[in-house]
Amino acid sequence: MKFSGKNVVVTGGSRGIGAEICKTLAEFGLKVWINYRSKPELADALKDEIEKSGGKAAVIKFDVTNEEEFINALNLIVESDGELSYLVNNAGITNDKLALRMKTEDFTSVIDANLTSAFIGSREALKLMSKKRFGSVVNIASIVGEMGNAGQVNYAASKGGMIAMSKSFAKEGASRNVRFNCVTPGFIATDMTEVLSQEVKDAYINNIPLKRLGDPKEIANAVAFLLSDHASYITGDVLKVNGGLYM
Ligand code: NAP
Repeated sequence: MKFSGKNVVVTGGSRGIGAEICKTLAEFGLKVWINYRSKPELADALKDEIEKSGGKAAVIKFDVTNEEEFINALNLIVESDGELSYLVNNAGITNDKLALRMKTEDFTSVIDANLTSAFIGSREALKLMSKKRFGSVVNIASIVGEMGNAGQVNYAASKGGMIAMSKSFAKEGASRNVRFNCVTPGFIATDMTEVLSQEVKDAYINNIPLKRLGDPKEIANAVAFLLSDHASYITGDVLKVNGGLYM
């Protein structure tokens, strides 16, 4: 896959879907900045793995809910590399419960972690990328933001908001050649879905036309495509990677 840019930062890059995105983008020749919040050992191990395979990687600690830390980190990357070519807003959390039991704090904390963080990252990336008249951002939303889900009013709002926000960023970024797109994963085998009981997983699988959970690599490939030059005429779009669960 062809990339005109040279570096990328992936939030929540040390494990799950984020780690697979880091590995895939490094294989395509990008220098990958692996963001982590709480597990330096995972981020360092991933950096070593990428470098042993001949790729370029660096580790950067920040909490995406801390605006100052996030902005400083992006500026540090530009100071180091001279530019920020690509951003993947991947970090995310869930805090599931039925709406009638959901406290306002349960709602706003998920909005802050998933949506406000992606707003901060997208806004800062647009500032930095505008200077070079080049850049691409992919936001990892969710099938739940497209179709809703019982027990996930907070998460669905954050991911649905991310889709609408990305389209608006796409309209603002287009004149500066900065693209914004979303990938909406279905049910992917990571720590996030590992907490579901086998019964719940089987019920989901039964409804998925491809009859299995997705692999993080299948999300990473979609992200790589949207960031790459092959998607140069695609902005404000949503790429569903869900085994056909929502068409
Ligand atoms: P995961 O295995 O739970 O990993 C989440 C990642 O986000 C971790 O690296 C975590 O870092 C990071 N993170 C969370 N809060 C953070 C914060 N405040 N600052 C920095 N990093 C933070 O989740 P995943 O399944 O890989 O999901 C990745 C993304 O895909 C999420 O946005 C999720 O909503 C989305 N998604 C996942 C699925 C799925 O089925 N798995 C489906 C649809 C969408 P720590 O290690 O420090 O906690």
